[in-house]
Amino acid sequence: MQYINGEWCQATTGKTYPVYNPATGEVIEQIARGGKEEGNLAIDAAKNALPSWSKKTAKERAFYLKTVSEKLRERIDHLATIITTEMGKPIAEAKGEVNLAADYLEWYAEEGKRIYGDTIPSSSETKRIIVLRQPVGVVAAITPWNFPIAMLARKIAPALAAGCTVVLKPAESTPLTAIEVMKIFHEVGLPKGVLNLVHGEAAPIGEAMMERQEVRKITFTGSTKVGKELAAKAAATMKKISMELGGHAPFIIFEDADLEKAAEGVIASKFRNAGQTCICTNRIYVQRTIAERFSEILVTKMDKLVVGNGLQPEVTIGPLINEAAVAKTEDHISDSVKKGAKVVYGGKKPTGEVYKKGHFYEPTILLHATHEMKIATEETFGPVAPIFEFDTEEEALQFANDTSYGLAAYFYTKDVSRVFRMSEKLEYGIIGINDPVPTTAQAPFGGVKESGVGREGGRYGLEDYLEYKFLSLELEL
Ligand code: ADP
Repeated sequence: MQYINGEWCQATTGKTYPVYNPATGEVIEQIARGGKEEGNLAIDAAKNALPSWSKKTAKERAFYLKTVSEKLRERIDHLATIITTEMGKPIAEAKGEVNLAADYLEWYAEEGKRIYGDTIPSSSETKRIIVLRQPVGVVAAITPWNFPIAMLARKIAPALAAGCTVVLKPAESTPLTAIEVMKIFHEVGLPKGVLNLVHGEAAPIGEAMMERQEVRKITFTGSTKVGKELAAKAAATMKKISMELGGHAPFIIFEDADLEKAAEGVIASKFRNAGQTCICTNRIYVQRTIAERFSEILVTKMDKLVVGNGLQPEVTIGPLINEAAVAKTEDHISDSVKKGAKVVYGGKKPTGEVYKKGHFYEPTILLHATHEMKIATEETFGPVAPIFEFDTEEEALQFANDTSYGLAAYFYTKDVSRVFRMSEKLEYGIIGINDPVPTTAQAPFGGVKESGVGREGGRYGLEDYLEYKFLSLELEL
């Protein structure tokens, strides 16, 4: 059900579409197939709600965010089950994601109270300069399927805290989690129109969002291709944009690293969410002197990964989102093997009755990867870990930066000077140093180069939802 102006509604056309469980292929629910008309109605509602919402005090706005955050934590089992059912990730990861979403809401409930302006010394004795910070206006938020709750919280929380109103469009395949979150906002009495949910046909809904002058900000997480299209369209009405797009993360292991920890790190970064995160490791670079030993350690740790339906507590790798994702993974592996890579773990679809109807793929390790392979430049978004080798720090850095993406990079070393040399030269927005899971509510998440613009999280995440207003006052003294 869509949620527009505080009310639950079907599509005006009456059309619906099925949401599937990727582990079983079963239809979970038929839901409204909204389009441009619903997009426009939601924008109208957000526009009408803006004056009163933006006038509220930060403390009043914080109440809603804080209460919703608490309710997310109370209902973690229920929400995690919905996430796993509609997108497949293991239930423990789904619970982690609900907690992260709650963290964003809690953080921005507080941070909204610290939207400070400035007073600036003037060059004239009679002038006073004051800078106000005000909400940008109606925000359109488009979220992806791989983190159905954390991504929407990371956008909704700072937007509402800043005094903006929001129209949210979740991914076609994962609207059910978004609906649950809207129910909670409704339950805590969020004023009507402040937050609206439209789902269904992405392009027409997107068109309404991009065309309407009243939408002053678009915040998007998804593919680089769609992000670029939206950014181009946003130019027509000069909307502010935040784009969190694809990545192609290098994971560099130097010979002085703790290899056990590095192998654990690769597993956490590469196989979390079955390799379907934008900060997932895509290229593992191992210093040649330790390459063989490292691969052996990594392979011994792989047996603890269990593929299956994420609702089973022992499962650590759920299904991929759809068959196209499985096909892309297979294509990257066969292209790599054709060009000289060797599969030393996995490399096929799991067999057995339980896997028949879902989109499963075994976690896979490839040795002897080279930069001629597709896997070296295209985002796989699947559970494949290709291992490349390098000789020197300079070479590792050059390989790591040789991509149009710039979201996350990781490296493992114990050398503190190297930590700074590498961190300062890696062209990425997020650097994990001996840390494979850097995301947290208080830090700025986002990329450089074609991985996007803007940052989400922490005090930085509010910037994108605010405008500066400069007041110049002439006094009579
Ligand atoms: P992915 O490949 O991860 O599905 P997409 O960029 O296609 O990434 O999807 C991310 C989000 O963008 C989803 O909510 C999707 O519905 C939305 N989306 C895709 N195409 C458009 C479009 N033309 N206009 C607006 N939103 C779109």
